[in-house]
Amino acid sequence: MAGGPVEMETIVSLCKRRGFVYPAAEIYGGFANAWDYGPLGVELRRNIRDAWWRAIVQERDDVVGIEATVITNPRVWVASGHVSTFNDPMVDCKHCNSRFRADHIDLHAPCPDCGASGVFTEPRMFNMMLKTYVGPVQSEDAVAYLRPETAQGMFINFENVLTTTRKKLPFGIAQIGRSFRNEITPGNFIFRTREFEQMEMEYFVKQGQHEAAYDYWRTERMRWFLKIGVRPEKLRYLAHPKEALAHYSIGTTDIEYEFPIGWQELEGIASRSDYDLRQHADTSGRPLSYFDEETKEHIVPYCVEPAVGVDRTFLTLLCDAYDEETLEKNDKRTVLRFHPTMAPITVAVLPLSRNEKLAPKARAVWDLLRPHFKTQYDDAQSIGRRYRRQDEVGTPWCVTVDFETVEQDDAVTIRERDSMTQARVPIADLVPALRERYDAAVAQTAQIAAAFTPNFATL
Ligand code: ATP
Repeated sequence: MAGGPVEMETIVSLCKRRGFVYPAAEIYGGFANAWDYGPLGVELRRNIRDAWWRAIVQERDDVVGIEATVITNPRVWVASGHVSTFNDPMVDCKHCNSRFRADHIDLHAPCPDCGASGVFTEPRMFNMMLKTYVGPVQSEDAVAYLRPETAQGMFINFENVLTTTRKKLPFGIAQIGRSFRNEITPGNFIFRTREFEQMEMEYFVKQGQHEAAYDYWRTERMRWFLKIGVRPEKLRYLAHPKEALAHYSIGTTDIEYEFPIGWQELEGIASRSDYDLRQHADTSGRPLSYFDEETKEHIVPYCVEPAVGVDRTFLTLLCDAYDEETLEKNDKRTVLRFHPTMAPITVAVLPLSRNEKLAPKARAVWDLLRPHFKTQYDDAQSIGRRYRRQDEVGTPWCVTVDFETVEQDDAVTIRERDSMTQARVPIADLVPALRERYDAAVAQTAQIAAAFTPNFATL
């Protein structure tokens, strides 16, 4: 079924079975729309974050990172507009009491849940920030919010970063961290949850250069998804119409992915003008500006923001990698075709059997590989079953140690996940042989990404 649609249920069940994602607090009956990440899940998340951080911060000379707090001075959310405008319009079905976002359904059509017609309430606004109290007394003065986005951390630290790094425009500030939204219609597994992790970057430019920066980041971000192995035909842009833009935005384009639930936002790239810096300057009384050496003027930079979820990228990679194959004799296998840079395990070391002659050599091979790759040692059950298990969690290469290794050639077999072909390689050459295959996979998607050129005029 290469390339065919996969049901969300199939992904959810694989995630649970193999230790990617578990329902949160399962022993207590779960907790609505909350998910815990298991041993393979945390490795995949780490790969996503690391790839983003490398591309956005470490491989560039114009972007620096920060980590701001989740709970901060509530005036931040007054200035940003979240206290007054971070609302979703909601409607209830009077017949079955299901609640929907008014902008997600056709209010003139029957209820998607029960099919009753003409039964929606008037849309009502709902503030999505999660509130808490800080300190010993639960009074109105002690109200604070869990951040609904990481972006404001960058704006409120603009001056600190500018004075400590002496960056010149254009430059960016990036952050990865948890955000919280009291979503009224969460669901679809980890697609929309109340607690999630974001990777956001605020790129500051002089006014007039923001259009070029917007195009640049729209292109770069699409290229990043291609680099980490997402299939090009499953990605597209969706430009928001001017009348639907958020209060801070002068232009927003989503990168959408074709999930099992249809085409949905994976990442948003927003041209935020000077809105946020001006708001914080007005509210805090601190002039948040940049001294332009050329014109000898203080200016308020414009800002372009690419913002993406770790969890949503995680779901994208799983849906994109999932494949079921029918082999000879109607034998079926499930494969996650993860790009090697994303796979939770890069190389699995498998002794042919648990025979005691093989274990020391297999352990020595594992020791050899561990400093270079993410590895796993697996000697339980038949070799065929172990290959299938590694296929199902997306391990690109298995290294098998057999009796010939020990008794004759001091060589091992590299078995490829996708082609299932096997190659015999001397142990002395094993690290470079695997490295060569890894680098070839990186070069292949880098080439696809470099060849991608968008046509924004058609959006
Ligand atoms: P929507 O309109 O669907 O609620 P949004 O446009 O408000 O989403 P942004 O504020 O642009 O979302 O957030 C940037 C990114 O953060 C999204 O593209 C998505 O990847 C991720 N994200 C946002 N909300 C959630 C959530 N509730 N659960 C998981 N990821 C989320």
